[in-house]
Amino acid sequence: MTTTTYTTVKEIPIIPATWGDLFKRLDWLNVICFGTPHLFTIWGFMTVSWQWETFVLFLVGLSVSSTGMKLSETFNAHCIILPLAFVVGYHRLWSHRTFVPTRSLEYSLAFVSTSAFQRTILWWARDHRAHHRHIDTDLDPCMANRGFWWRHLGWFLIKPAKVAPVDLTDLTSNPAVMWQVKWYWPMSLVTSFVVPMTIAGLGWGDWKGGLLYAGCLRINLVHNVCLIPSFPVIIIIMLIMLYAGNTIC
Ligand SMILES: [Zn+2]
Repeated sequence: MTTTTYTTVKEIPIIPATWGDLFKRLDWLNVICFGTPHLFTIWGFMTVSWQWETFVLFLVGLSVSSTGMKLSETFNAHCIILPLAFVVGYHRLWSHRTFVPTRSLEYSLAFVSTSAFQRTILWWARDHRAHHRHIDTDLDPCMANRGFWWRHLGWFLIKPAKVAPVDLTDLTSNPAVMWQVKWYWPMSLVTSFVVPMTIAGLGWGDWKGGLLYAGCLRINLVHNVCLIPSFPVIIIIMLIMLYAGNTIC
């Protein structure tokens, strides 16, 4: 009997969190990764004016981050914002194995995708494979039927009590994937924050804008668009961003 790769090998229902055990089940690493860029972006809106060079850097960074990330199969949200963005990396390559990359391309994607600040390939692919395998059932980690806030935030801010195990042996035996897992945090901090801050700082003296807009705001947009591929949410985020950036400063 042969086994099928990329499928759940054992199915265990996920038990939704309750208000009583919510605090214990918060995934604090994800809370920090998601919340901190938002707080820094608000600080940026209150203290830093946009410079056009920084805005261009923000858009270019958004495209580069998107290159390594998810995007929806049916609705390529990033392409609405920036047509240069396309689907590879975390979603097409490592979650779905839709093409065979060269060694240099795979390592490049593994490195570039750390700029999206969405944890490692293994972490992302695990939930995404479970999502496809059990879409819109109790075993789907981000099941839409649990409501807007669960679909948008709850599924990754709250640790599931039990999850459907997924076969990731193709990824754990992949040198490029495990290289990214080993060096993820130093690479991610550099590509997400240090690089945009340094480019803006050395290029046109906008160190703070580089960090808060080309770094943190870009990450917020990538997080929110990737976590819920919803056109109204994208529009709301863009309007809030433009309104706050043009009125507070
Ligand atoms: Zn998918």
